[in-house]
Amino acid sequence: MTRIYNFGAGPATLPRPVLEKARDELVEWRDSGMSVMEMSHRGREFLEIAAHAEAGLRSLLGIPEGYKVLFLQGGASLQFAMVPINLLRGRAGADYLDTGQWSRKAIQEARKFCEVNVAASGEAGRYTDIPDPRSWRLRRDAAYVHYTPNETIGGVEFGFIPETHGVPLVADMSSTILSRPLDVGRFGLIYAGAQKNIGPSGLTVVIVREDLLGAPLSGTPTLLDYAVHAHNDSMYNTPPTYPIYIAGLVFDWLQSRGGLAGIAAVNERKAARVYATIAESGGFYACPVAASCRSWMNIPFTLQDARLDPPFLQEAKEAGLLQLKGHRSVGGMRASLYNAMPEEGVEALVVFMRDFARRHG
Ligand SMILES: *Cc1c(COP(=O)(O)O)cnc(C)c1O
Repeated sequence: MTRIYNFGAGPATLPRPVLEKARDELVEWRDSGMSVMEMSHRGREFLEIAAHAEAGLRSLLGIPEGYKVLFLQGGASLQFAMVPINLLRGRAGADYLDTGQWSRKAIQEARKFCEVNVAASGEAGRYTDIPDPRSWRLRRDAAYVHYTPNETIGGVEFGFIPETHGVPLVADMSSTILSRPLDVGRFGLIYAGAQKNIGPSGLTVVIVREDLLGAPLSGTPTLLDYAVHAHNDSMYNTPPTYPIYIAGLVFDWLQSRGGLAGIAAVNERKAARVYATIAESGGFYACPVAASCRSWMNIPFTLQDARLDPPFLQEAKEAGLLQLKGHRSVGGMRASLYNAMPEEGVEALVVFMRDFARRHG
């Protein structure tokens, strides 16, 4: 049995060295006499594992003082609710940028708690572009501005951080966190489900500015209050211990690859290879996304003749390239090239794409 190249959007491929280290430590972690999965989350060993993971994330992202790192559950989808519940802080509404399906989900959920102003929407252009910032209708009295820096389904990625003139900026970074260096100080809150670029599903990472904590809507359940998690080092209740451990190993692996500057150079090369292959196909393949906002992480593309989709997927599978089927809502193909996808995997993909086009074009 050999490992294939997994282009799935999430849960996604993990770095092989991380899996091997986890395998070596599976039955017994160091000299603890037990697996990480069996440890008390309040014991010395696990506290060390959690502190190591947090330190790794802080170091990679250069998180400034005054920010809490929280290890939560419920996925990015629960953050769609936790953000308005905690950050409205007496204000009536929040601004949202609508750049695709994940933005829309966040907006739908926020509408249960507040008045949502959609400050800009890419809907008219079928979410293939980011609306020009000069056209955004941001409000000075918004509680926060929410956006999705990388739309995992549509493949639209911001190449810049929005300017909000002092209003806290909130970002759903599920599919782009740790793909390149980031100026965390520009944000009020960042959240990310782990299963794309951090580790296994079941863990959600939240990075939040401390001054935004502590005034949730009245009646907020204890577990939905960021301040409760912050004051208890994410151990108010049992945290997702094994995913936190794996995340720590992923952070170590990223450090060994030259940190975020190192991985960004690799990510840029990987994405450029696939976009160039699409461009050079003479129309056999096409990417609908505007050139200025093409994602490094998720590349949607279509075949000119959709009848070739099934043989493309079948032959890709035979070549060891899996999970290339596009999201059910858009069809076609999608190649997710998260940090853990090696350059050899991308090379195998472009060789296959060229060969397939030559044989079927
Ligand atoms: C995957 C994803 C989500 C959903 O994450 P869950 O952990 O399944 O709730 C939300 N936003 C973005 C940008 C995603 O990529």
